[in-house]
Amino acid sequence: MTERIYNFSAGPAVLPLPVLEAAQRELVALPGVGMSVMEISHRSKTFDEIIGSAEAGLRELMGLPDNYHVLFLQGGASLQFSMIPMNFLSKDKSADYVLTGSWGKKAIKEAKREGNVNLAFSSQEENFKRTPRQEELKLDAKAAYCHVTTNETIEGVEFQYTPDTGDVPLFADMSSDILSHPIPAERYALIYAGAQKNIGPSGVTVVILRDDLLARIPDGLHTMLDFRTHTEAKSLYNTPNTWGIYIINLVCKWLKEKGGLAGMQAENEAKAKLLYDAIDATDFYRGHAEKDSRSIMTVTFRLPSEDLEKQFVKESTAAGLDGLKGHRSVGGLRASIYNAFPRAGVEALVSFMKEFERKNG
Ligand SMILES: *Cc1c(COP(=O)(O)O)cnc(C)c1O
Repeated sequence: MTERIYNFSAGPAVLPLPVLEAAQRELVALPGVGMSVMEISHRSKTFDEIIGSAEAGLRELMGLPDNYHVLFLQGGASLQFSMIPMNFLSKDKSADYVLTGSWGKKAIKEAKREGNVNLAFSSQEENFKRTPRQEELKLDAKAAYCHVTTNETIEGVEFQYTPDTGDVPLFADMSSDILSHPIPAERYALIYAGAQKNIGPSGVTVVILRDDLLARIPDGLHTMLDFRTHTEAKSLYNTPNTWGIYIINLVCKWLKEKGGLAGMQAENEAKAKLLYDAIDATDFYRGHAEKDSRSIMTVTFRLPSEDLEKQFVKESTAAGLDGLKGHRSVGGLRASIYNAFPRAGVEALVSFMKEFERKNG
């Protein structure tokens, strides 16, 4: 059996070991079925139970009200950057976008193709170091929706509260912090997340949307790009990512055993604190995000020089701490410590950081 190393990758990212082990046990033949989950029809009774259980798991964990749909789509969170404005924006309408990092920028680029974008806040000039305070949001009461990115994965900047957008529907890209802590789900009208950060493998995107939004969708959209197609067919209009949905179901079961999202939050905060305390303990390390905007999922920091950063990546990788290189667009270091990332791995990184500073500081 090959040893597992500590995987700090931003995505696809670490999955819970018990989930991988369960998938391994059942890979060749699902109990009582005699075939792999990858070999059965998406319209079979067995798969119907799997997708139903995955949906129920997400509903229970997130406390979703009954008037929300849960969809398992494809095309990644990136397709949602387009699909959302195609369904809910148009040339005669405007949507609010809150810009706190690189992913929000990509979302805005696509929205502008469909209609007007009101930049309700931007921290771009400040190098995407923070989220806005509620009173800084320049919201338009007539906006079709307001879009936020709850955790900017590349910059490591996370909302610590749910913005109040009044009667304007709040839409959120939660790709990198979905299921990391409890949220007031009823305050969001639409939530989406590429699964590969915190809920499963790549190739499946979870979209949660409130039923009344469907009435706003214009006719004439391409079938696959119309949310109504997927709510009506319960994510089975075409062949979904059956494997991905199967893994999401296992991850939900694992999360429930871990005490649900409240249990996860406590563990995530403890892990993040270990790391931020190590960063704050010295001038050698410098956190990227401002303290009140720090992410508990993606911890970004810099060293005194780019040469030292390169050396840090090289030596940490050799020490079995993989994937710490920051995103190519911002540089520095990034430790992605999603739900499934073990606390022992954070402790190992903190020890490595202390030793690295002792030798090079
Ligand atoms: C990774 C990521 C995306 C892009 O996801 P894909 O599934 O690769 O399209 C979008 N938004 C955020 C916040 C992300 O972390």
